[in-house]
Amino acid sequence: MHEIAIVDNLITVVDDQVKEHQLEKVHRVHLVVGQLTGVVEDVLRFCWQVSAEGTPWEGAQLTVDQKAAVALCADCNVEYELKEQCFACPHCGGAIKSLVTGKELYIDYIEGD
Ligand SMILES: [Zn+2]
Repeated sequence: MHEIAIVDNLITVVDDQVKEHQLEKVHRVHLVVGQLTGVVEDVLRFCWQVSAEGTPWEGAQLTVDQKAAVALCADCNVEYELKEQCFACPHCGGAIKSLVTGKELYIDYIEGD
């Protein structure tokens, strides 16, 4: 249930934006969530709804852009999508050098007025 902590963080960001742009009502919050964050979207939505009660973002649409997990191979330098429990490079069997995408979790934009 780390979704509660995540929502807490998101709300801090939304709250800052609301104040900065003097928004009276937030219509939409668009999130980018990487596959490797382990976030369960339904749980995230539930936590969001509960915490949004009585705020300017109550009833705002929460849209989520799921980012696939992509790694860079240390041996052949090819980028490949990580499949469940299979982290070796499908081209050469090499190890991961770094993650390209999959761990992001941030608010892309907020719509409101
Ligand atoms: Zn490789």
